[in-house]
Amino acid sequence: MSCLFPALQSPSERVALRFGDRSLTYAELTTATGALAARLPPGGRVAIWATPALETAVAVVAALRAGAAAVPLNPKSGEKELGHILSDSAPSVVLAAPGDELPPPVRDLERIDVDVTGTGSTALALLIDDEAPALIVYTSGTTGPPKGAVLPRRAIATTLDALADAWQWTGDDVLVHGLPLFHVHGLVLGILGPLRRGGSVRHLGRFSTEGVARELNEGATMLFGVPTMYHRIAGALSEEPELAKALGRARLLVSGSAALPVHDHERIAAATGRRVIERYGMTETLMNTSVRADGEPRAGTVGVPLPGVELRLVEEDGTAITSYDGESVGEIQVRGPNLFTEYLNRPDATAAAFTADGFFRTGDMAVRESDGYVRIVGRKATDLIKSGGYKIGAGEIENALLEHAGVREAAVTGEPDADLGERIVAWVVPEDPQSPPSPEELADHVAGRLAPHKRPRVVHYLERLPRNDMGKIMKRALHRA
Ligand code: ATP
Ligand code: MG
Repeated sequence: MSCLFPALQSPSERVALRFGDRSLTYAELTTATGALAARLPPGGRVAIWATPALETAVAVVAALRAGAAAVPLNPKSGEKELGHILSDSAPSVVLAAPGDELPPPVRDLERIDVDVTGTGSTALALLIDDEAPALIVYTSGTTGPPKGAVLPRRAIATTLDALADAWQWTGDDVLVHGLPLFHVHGLVLGILGPLRRGGSVRHLGRFSTEGVARELNEGATMLFGVPTMYHRIAGALSEEPELAKALGRARLLVSGSAALPVHDHERIAAATGRRVIERYGMTETLMNTSVRADGEPRAGTVGVPLPGVELRLVEEDGTAITSYDGESVGEIQVRGPNLFTEYLNRPDATAAAFTADGFFRTGDMAVRESDGYVRIVGRKATDLIKSGGYKIGAGEIENALLEHAGVREAAVTGEPDADLGERIVAWVVPEDPQSPPSPEELADHVAGRLAPHKRPRVVHYLERLPRNDMGKIMKRALHRA
């Protein structure tokens, strides 16, 4: 039994949350979440209409205080996906901001309007088991239909404290936040993280480079983003001198949810003197590795295992890779108190996800460098191309393509090939659709930078890549694009 948010027990006048022109101090947050928690079913499940608004943060904290499991819903999901999540998780109520219109089937649930200025009777200080489900978060659906990961309080507390260690994250930090609130990144790291430390969050509502510059210039210390945000920042730096200055002032720029292209990392470093650090996590495991604030930031790596996380790379035949040679590719498997307990209603998927000795199979492939830094090469299912006897990671070819001046976005996949087993296919969004770089030019560019066998054999030109809400490339949609 432990307290997730000590700062709510001795509430202060420090601002906890700010969304646009609305904010709550720790004292106000304690009162509002206490009043709301008193109305929730302890031990039950509550859906949360997770718009990027103050109400969402208040609702999640109230659910955690009540000991109810919160199920954040993505308001941009279609009816079919919402229907799947509601029938799978069977919440008894939905919490939403007053005035928010709820689509079917969400509107069929009993509704509680979240009052961020609520007062009145507060919930009893319940002693809640650390293993009790705190959040049920659906995976991003990048590789298949989303699965509900059941996350106990223990996993949340563990991961946030491990990040505090790695990032020297304290209550003095002020976070600029522009991410959605229905996934681990925006919700657990971006809202619960600062609240656990007793720090502040300033949410932009909608990400903009101007918003980032303004908040960092007005004293914010950290920025959390996904690679598409850093890509926009990298592109805006030459036109927005304020932005470069603001980023130069930040204590920590953190990227995650997908690989940060090396090209964007380098452009930001050159213009601001700051290196973005990458962390690697999943809905099921919360955070596994990070470049440390006191470590050497390095482009293209996700750093070292966080305190408490056991990480190994395992070959297809099940043998663990023991050499840190930067070359031997294996699946990342992790074990530790940061892990989820199960996929909701999916005992089959849960059993398949764990090894006999309790490691979680992430499905991500990586190598380790001589000093232990983990370098992700891609997902086992979509990013590992077996061509001409080689195992080639899509990521390094994507990075190489993005360094070509004529390439704006790039994704790489494999397709069956009679001679090679698989051949490398590049999907490219050119800077100038009128004169895209030719397939031969791109093949030479990659061969020159990496190795001849890593050159794409086929190039498709697209207007944009299919991406999900977190900006992740949906490779399974590419073949249909
Ligand atoms: P689904 O499991 O439904 O297919 P998903 O795996 O994208 O979707 P998430 O749990 O949101 O759902 O994402 C976790 C995945 O994101 C990781 O397994 C990894 O592939 C990727 N990822 C996260 N952080 C990084 C990073 N820093 N670098 C590379 N990949 C990352
Ligand atoms: Mg996944």
